[in-house]
Amino acid sequence: MSTLVMKFGGTSVGMTTGLTQVLSIVLHEAERWDQLLLVVSALEGVTDALIEASHLAQLSNRRGYRRIAATLRTRHLALIEQLPLGPTERVSLQADVDRLLFDMLDLCQSLADRHGEKPNPEVIDSIIGTGERLSSRIVAALLRQNGLRGVAIDATDLIVTDNVYSNATPNLELTRERINELLAPMLERKIIPVITGFIASTVTGKPTTLGRGGSDYTASVLAVCTDAAEVWIWADVDGIMTSDPREVSDTQVIPLMSYDEAAELASFGARILHARMIGPLKRRRVPLRIRNVFKPQAAGTLVTAQPDNAAPSLKAVTSTRGLGLTAPHGGPIHQLAALVDETLFGVSGTHAGVTIAGQSSSHSFVCFVISTSAGSDALHNLQVALEERLPALPENDWTMMPVAVITVIGTRLDSLHSLTPGVLNALDGIRVLALAPGRSSLTLVVEPQRGEHTLRLLHQLILNSG
Ligand code: ASP
Ligand code: MG
Repeated sequence: MSTLVMKFGGTSVGMTTGLTQVLSIVLHEAERWDQLLLVVSALEGVTDALIEASHLAQLSNRRGYRRIAATLRTRHLALIEQLPLGPTERVSLQADVDRLLFDMLDLCQSLADRHGEKPNPEVIDSIIGTGERLSSRIVAALLRQNGLRGVAIDATDLIVTDNVYSNATPNLELTRERINELLAPMLERKIIPVITGFIASTVTGKPTTLGRGGSDYTASVLAVCTDAAEVWIWADVDGIMTSDPREVSDTQVIPLMSYDEAAELASFGARILHARMIGPLKRRRVPLRIRNVFKPQAAGTLVTAQPDNAAPSLKAVTSTRGLGLTAPHGGPIHQLAALVDETLFGVSGTHAGVTIAGQSSSHSFVCFVISTSAGSDALHNLQVALEERLPALPENDWTMMPVAVITVIGTRLDSLHSLTPGVLNALDGIRVLALAPGRSSLTLVVEPQRGEHTLRLLHQLILNSG
């Protein structure tokens, strides 16, 4: 029995051109696999709008969140209007859009009514997960219209998580049980489930979400829990690139990567993959492909286990932000680390990702890398919250500064390998605040204003080394 899980991102499902591609890909793969599972993100930008609506609701700005709901309604209805659908599918989809946005408004209303009180985090997760509920219904209708047995499924019924709202982690055993019970019978009947990415629920059924970009994680969890042969992430770029094409020119596709390399790339800022999606795939050895929905004939990137004899090579460079702290002394940093972690968790629901530290007797430098799944305002919110809390530490002479965290990813980069001097030489005298080797990476912390330049220099090194 061969099972394939395919996830389609926000640009693929957000426009008719993308949806036409989605349809032709699904029609093609439906012939080649025994079972297909689809995972969809919200239409591009919709989750941002929903997060904004939940903020406005908490501020009791009724006009603000209603305006957002109205814009979302217009956008989804316009997309439905443009799709080649029969009248029955179209009318029932329009009704779905109205009902889902009505529910979302109801939840916003409940937040607005309780203005000033601490909001229920599951209400917020329910609001921000509306986008996937909308998009999954559109994709399922499109499949049905084209002779496939597409059924929209809310992952709140399938994926069981802990109660870390806005950044929850699935429990694979419980999820597998639900899947066996609810999804397996559908798959046997050749139904193609179109499952909402990003959203899930706790054991007691309270809505949760898996962190920004979490639809990838949904696909990985579903692949592992259905013993799928492969998982494919369909994006609007050619695969995993040597660097972020939005920041660096001349980027190239990386044809082959190991799980560790992909995980390091994602946890050091590459937005193409959700950082926590790789772990489950690596443990079960499920191959992952990242492909361009607009170029389905191209192979994209294959992420798989690394062969033992893999040759040393530099593959990619990422950039992300972190919070740096310095103090004019050495000594233990566990209280500082605990305070930062707790504060970050309070403002974003995420724990500090990687911590990079370096000390001498007269100087300490600690850098906390902020995961992209924490959202774009996490660093700022962390800084503001720490401003108040840092003075309470026994050693209260820490100075804060944002830093740029630049990570070179590659094979055999571990333990300051012989590739390291080349990386440092390429830096052209840029001051390095800290240096940390990983299993398949080398991370450099630099001043924020030097981040872009460092990224470009190291990208050039990678292209030259290839
Ligand atoms: N729609 C969610 C987000 O924007 C999840 C995803 O796209 O993967 O973060
Ligand atoms: Mg994504």
